[in-house]
Amino acid sequence: MTSHSKTYENVNLEFNKAADLIDLDPGVRKILSKPMNEVTVNFPAIMDNGEVEMFTAYRVQHNNFLGPFKGGLRFHPMVDINEVRSLATWMTWKTAIANIPFGGAKGGIQFDPTCCSPDEIQRITRRFTYALGCTIGPDFDIPAPDVNTNAQIMAWILDTYVSMLPPHERQRSYHVVTGKPVDLGGSVGREKATGQGVVFLIERWAKDTGLDLSQSTFIVQGYGNVGSWAARLLGAHGAKLIAVEDSTGAIINPKGLNPETLCAYVDETKGVIDCPDTSEIDHETFLSTKADIFIPAALENQITAETAPLLNVKLVAEGANGPTDLEGNRILHEKGISVLPDILCNAGGVIVSYFEWLQNKRSEFWDLEEVDAKLHKIITNAYERVANEAKSLAVDWRTAAYVIALSRLQNVYMGRGIFP
Ligand code: NAD
Repeated sequence: MTSHSKTYENVNLEFNKAADLIDLDPGVRKILSKPMNEVTVNFPAIMDNGEVEMFTAYRVQHNNFLGPFKGGLRFHPMVDINEVRSLATWMTWKTAIANIPFGGAKGGIQFDPTCCSPDEIQRITRRFTYALGCTIGPDFDIPAPDVNTNAQIMAWILDTYVSMLPPHERQRSYHVVTGKPVDLGGSVGREKATGQGVVFLIERWAKDTGLDLSQSTFIVQGYGNVGSWAARLLGAHGAKLIAVEDSTGAIINPKGLNPETLCAYVDETKGVIDCPDTSEIDHETFLSTKADIFIPAALENQITAETAPLLNVKLVAEGANGPTDLEGNRILHEKGISVLPDILCNAGGVIVSYFEWLQNKRSEFWDLEEVDAKLHKIITNAYERVANEAKSLAVDWRTAAYVIALSRLQNVYMGRGIFP
């Protein structure tokens, strides 16, 4: 079984566990257990050497009962249908927990962008957008950045998508993607939003548990958008970053790393390895590093039956999607390690994407203060709902988060009924 089919199996196990707990309506259970639409496209792109290469990509639209499909787009050689299904399903739960009017979707192109030139990445992105056609749309399915995609990629998708529309429809379709550059209709605060949401929740958890963040230590896995923003924002509280791992390896400095300096280093060298004033450590040593907080912000299935016993932290704040599998979650619970689950903890990105979408629809521009204040309110309200549900059902926070999402979706399905 490939790791991604195992990931999708875990998604369904988590779903069924929560569905059993609330005795979810059998019809609603059947509906939510499968994505609504799954699109696979194979498309050509011309490489810099003049040769044609074929690419395979996916867009999975899990559910749109609460609003348009919404979810990121990933460029990675390991992308497959089961990974995209998993990520799309988590988006449905995430938007339901945050209480924003979106459904869940996700997309991915199976290729390694680190082996391609910027021009090749642009041509692949544009051909993919063309291949998707009206599978996406500003009020139907709205992509955003994810692993190895960023504001520039969103700008190319926007430009390609609107260029395919009749002229009179172009100006009012800019909200076909979120996470755009600010000059092109993006929202201030969107780039840091996922990391900002993670840190708002860590602040809240620290307040509830009496941890003084200015005296705390933390480790981060993944130093891209989510990991580096979370590190910089947590570092601003005086918390000490002592170890970091990314796809190039793991580094440590028990006296503390400067998150801003590390960010500049990664921008230049494309990885954390060999950063000055650090020692290289192996994966197991990284995971065993004693700290108050661990922020996984890379890929799925990092905290498992094998690795969860190594962790020596008080809190796991899941910036990544699906970093912990079912066994890993059980072990963390047994060890008394608190978990801010992904579908709550990394919702800051989709929440500020919602703000960007609203600003585009209303031709408004909000300032950073307004964006941050609204994000803080929505994500801490979600935190309180999950904390209360976990307490009243005496379950772990991930199960509580699922219960909230499924209950909200069940209410809507029961209210609307099933057509015809
Ligand atoms: P990114 O491409 O900016 O960064 C990914 C990071 O993960 C890089 O530092 C990379 O080196 C590291 N990485 C990759 N493989 C690794 C491995 N095997 N071991 C250790 N590190 C590894 O991506 P991102 O946007 O920061 O996304 C990171 C995670 O956060 C993903 O799970 C993504 O789905 C999730 N997420 C992202 C957003 C967003 O707004 N970008 C929102 C919600 C959730």
